[in-house]
Amino acid sequence: MTYKKLLTLLSICCFSSSSFAFLPQNSLRAGGIAVLPISEDVQQVSFQNMPVLLTHEAQKKYAIVGIPLSTPVGSVKVDTDQGPIHLDIQPYAYAEQHIQLKDQSFVEPSAEQLARYKQEAEEQQRIYHSFTPSTWNSFPRFIAPTPGKFSNSFGRKRFFNQEARAPHSGLDIPAPVGQKVVAPANGTVVGIGDYFFNGKTILVDHGQGLISMFCHLSEIDVTVGQHVIQGERIGLVGKTGRVTGPHLHWGMSLNDARVDPQLFLQK
Ligand SMILES: [Zn+2]
Repeated sequence: MTYKKLLTLLSICCFSSSSFAFLPQNSLRAGGIAVLPISEDVQQVSFQNMPVLLTHEAQKKYAIVGIPLSTPVGSVKVDTDQGPIHLDIQPYAYAEQHIQLKDQSFVEPSAEQLARYKQEAEEQQRIYHSFTPSTWNSFPRFIAPTPGKFSNSFGRKRFFNQEARAPHSGLDIPAPVGQKVVAPANGTVVGIGDYFFNGKTILVDHGQGLISMFCHLSEIDVTVGQHVIQGERIGLVGKTGRVTGPHLHWGMSLNDARVDPQLFLQK
């Protein structure tokens, strides 16, 4: 038996609330994930009117709840068909980031650019709201979509040319143009586009409202409806859309909440 296999077995036998073999890390903060052990009797779970992902691990049932970045600190309620579960959202200090953009249209888009953005945002919202049955037996283990040092950029409060904008909803991985981007887990390509802010983008549905997003690509190698397997090349790193340099923007959405992608990777 390999050391890695032994570790996996140990973590299945002796798992605690914060350490699972396959499940994401439990992190009760805005932009985090709640990994909730639930009774086998629970059939339906929802959070803020969105259906919640349910899975099994080591013969136990779990609800995996995405917590939106806009969630205030304090108690929030997860609804189940067996009664509510209360979560205590903890404070978390995300950093601030001040970005100077030479192209002012990315800070104050024209009416035409805003109309384009609105349509693109609606298309992405439709995908984030979708809920397809899962095809996995246990929660998919994720790998990083491209090599590189993760800047701790998820959740940053951003100011573009001194103007406050929405917090950063993904993780930036600085990498050279042309570096390979792979599917971090099995899934189906549900959206591709060349968006105003996000540039060339791919959205992959992993099942049960778990969607990954890859932005600013220089090349897209997949088509909508295509099934991708973990590690398969889907595109190349680029610098399309609103960027200050080449990098991969990796987003993860769960029950329409943008959550920290690092929580899906093993520590
Ligand atoms: Zn980004």
